[in-house]
Amino acid sequence: MAILVVGGAGYIGSHAARALQRAGYEAIIYDSLVNGHRRLTEGFELIEGDIADQGKLRSALKRVDGVMHFAAHAYVGESVQNPRKYFQNNVEAALGLLNETIDAGIRRFVFSSTCAVYGDPAKVPITEDNPRQPVNPYGTSKLFCEFALEAYDRAYGLRSARLRYFNAAGADDSGEIGELHNPETHLIPLALAATGDGSELNIFGTDYPTPDGTCIRDYIHVNDLADAHVRALQHLEKGGESVALNLGTGRGDSVLDVIKAAEAATGRTVKRKLGPRRPGDPPVLVADAARAQKVLGWRATRLLPEIVSSAWKWMKTVQRSS
Ligand code: UDP
Repeated sequence: MAILVVGGAGYIGSHAARALQRAGYEAIIYDSLVNGHRRLTEGFELIEGDIADQGKLRSALKRVDGVMHFAAHAYVGESVQNPRKYFQNNVEAALGLLNETIDAGIRRFVFSSTCAVYGDPAKVPITEDNPRQPVNPYGTSKLFCEFALEAYDRAYGLRSARLRYFNAAGADDSGEIGELHNPETHLIPLALAATGDGSELNIFGTDYPTPDGTCIRDYIHVNDLADAHVRALQHLEKGGESVALNLGTGRGDSVLDVIKAAEAATGRTVKRKLGPRRPGDPPVLVADAARAQKVLGWRATRLLPEIVSSAWKWMKTVQRSS
């Protein structure tokens, strides 16, 4: 069984490609390498192409039985500054991919969605029934694709899993792949970097209504996410219905908890400064992932200490090789 991993040279896509391969699938990576990295595709067939290139997609899709779609811009702040870029890629080009997928006769689609579709949630932990009211163009672009997938299911029988990630972090144990964002904006790599490269971690807000005043997030190991993708695909293969699922641990950790975990993993101090809130950050985002457990038999297996130490191992590998 062959799967096209669109955006497979990126952080989460590269972990999913490996999870597919380990589960016995042929994973073919399709990536423009604009934000993706060739080094993350080693051991895989790579088709170099943009998702806006429908001709190239068409020929790639002829060879596969299902699609996993990871190729999206994913910086919330940038999406506010430059929504056009986000709607062009995450909506317009993604719709082209959906159209080519159904035209190729493929009926299984696993989609990278996000907890950003919920905006400021009415209730925490967040269940999938929470109203979807994104508060930035990134979340809106992902929600558009969810709506398109729902309509394509009803009209054309395209079955999909819309997987709403919470905060992806960590790296594969192989040391071969991990997070390589440019610029890096995520808390865990920045906290680890601030233990030694001279940088200082800016804590975005210390006056939130949380026990220690900093934001709480649900950090989930990237391999747990990758595993959920394989299970979602298998669910669709077995004739399971289209589904939207939260992927998180169900546990919340504050920015200060992450700093402590980074200090424990590295044995060094995280240099930090206290800053103002970052616009658009809800105080607490934690998943209720019960539906994923029920539908996929899936549960996150790694918590913060393991997530942070795997990210640290990867960071040292990158430092050694650059
Ligand atoms: N954060 C922070 N300093 C940073 C980066 C992030 O205090 O330099 C906080 C941010 O406000 C949020 C949490 O860390 O509460 C996780 O942010 P990240 O950007 O990693 O993921 P997001 O929740 O935006 O997807």
